[in-house]
Amino acid sequence: MIDDGAETASGANMSTLNDFDIIVAGAGPVGSIAALALARQGFSVALVGPPPKSDDQRTTALMLPALDYLEELGLPRFSPEETAPLEVMRIIDATQRLVRSAPVTFRASEIGAERFGVNIPNIVLLRILQEAVEAEARISRFEVMVADWLIGDDRARAELSDGRVVSARLCVAADGRASPAREAAGISVAKRDYPQSALVLNFAHSRGHGYVSTEFHTETGPCTQVPLPGDRSSLVWLVSPQMAVELAGLGDAELSARIEDRMQSVLGKVEVEPGRQIYPMSALLPSAMAANRVMLVGEAAHVFPPIGAQGMNLGIRDVSDLVEVVLSNRDDPGSPKALSAYRSARRVDVLARQTAVNSLNMALLSDLLPAQIVRSTGLGLLANISPLREFVMREGMQPGSGFARIASGWRKQVRR
Ligand SMILES: Cc1cc2nc3c(=O)[nH]c(=O)nc-3n(C[C@H](O)[C@H](O)[C@H](O)COP(=O)(O)OP(=O)(O)OC[C@H]3O[C@@H](n4cnc5c(N)ncnc54)[C@H](O)[C@@H]3O)c2cc1C
Repeated sequence: MIDDGAETASGANMSTLNDFDIIVAGAGPVGSIAALALARQGFSVALVGPPPKSDDQRTTALMLPALDYLEELGLPRFSPEETAPLEVMRIIDATQRLVRSAPVTFRASEIGAERFGVNIPNIVLLRILQEAVEAEARISRFEVMVADWLIGDDRARAELSDGRVVSARLCVAADGRASPAREAAGISVAKRDYPQSALVLNFAHSRGHGYVSTEFHTETGPCTQVPLPGDRSSLVWLVSPQMAVELAGLGDAELSARIEDRMQSVLGKVEVEPGRQIYPMSALLPSAMAANRVMLVGEAAHVFPPIGAQGMNLGIRDVSDLVEVVLSNRDDPGSPKALSAYRSARRVDVLARQTAVNSLNMALLSDLLPAQIVRSTGLGLLANISPLREFVMREGMQPGSGFARIASGWRKQVRR
């Protein structure tokens, strides 16, 4: 709610008022990282939100720039017993369409790196973040929901579900795709539901994965295997919502056989592990990344299908840019000037990722021949042109680094 100056009924009842430099709404992965990053810069932070669910079966592929950022925040290095490096990423066109492309293989070694990043189970990442948050004296943790927002010209005030009230000059909305803070700031969103759900599970396999992640492109969306420690992998399989329910309801042996078949037996015999989850797919883009003392990060700022491991990596880049903006506007980090700087900083990156992922997803779902030709030509070019692959790999990990590499190549040629 935007405060027009009038005292509200809830405002009159506010019991205690805690003033902070910054409120972070939402204690999911991106909210926790934002709170830590801001606290490390000396800001007092109220991190508000219930502890994330402990049954998250998902794993997250975090790329090197994101890992470097987490290390800069003082998080411990991820242990090899709990995470697996990603050395090769492969796309296999497994559609039965008229036009198909050759497999595309991206090797970290092609860009002089040992690995693109690591695959980490979400429960491991959340445990590490929670421990770091608890140890950070500048973060005050409120493990409840924000029940109501009152956003004035000078401060944002959050009324919590236990009656307490916190207030700050800036609110960082990390409260997920439905983001009540975003709504309170009056930021509208464009939303599209896809006819897809992701079936998520982990499985063991008889052949080693060799730290290769494979994305099988199918008519219902990608089916992506990502390595875990040992002969185990995680799976994110995009299918119709009805098929997701059917697959999740199968017995272990039958589901294992379906996955092995879908993956063309590249990892040998498959044995699914207990636990299957279904995530409905949608895309969401806000009309602005900041307004009225609220800056958006993570899924409050962008939602798209899990293709190419982009979502949380993008959320971490939101945090990185947000901290830069806040440091340049220490006197009032929620001022119109700071909000405008954050909007400018995030516009291109968020729009580019959103457009790339949604276009690829739409091209896969589309039966139209022109869409198939564009998709397979794009993949074909990637398969055959090594500088283009290098560019896509660099840009995929860190926006601007592919262009920077081209520019440095040109500079070298000019000097010669
Ligand atoms: C199947 C799948 C696989 C994925 N794989 C990858 C991957 O490999 N790599 C990658 O980079 N990304 C991946 N992603 C994307 C990634 O999971 C998301 O980007 C990330 O989880 C978003 O985190 P978040 O903290 O922004 O949001 P969330 O995790 O949704 O957290 C939001 C938090 O806000 C809280 N909240 C809501 N309302 C309130 C309120 N009123 N008051 C206080 N708190 C509130 C919620 O309780 C929640 O804890 C994947 C996504 C899916 C679905």
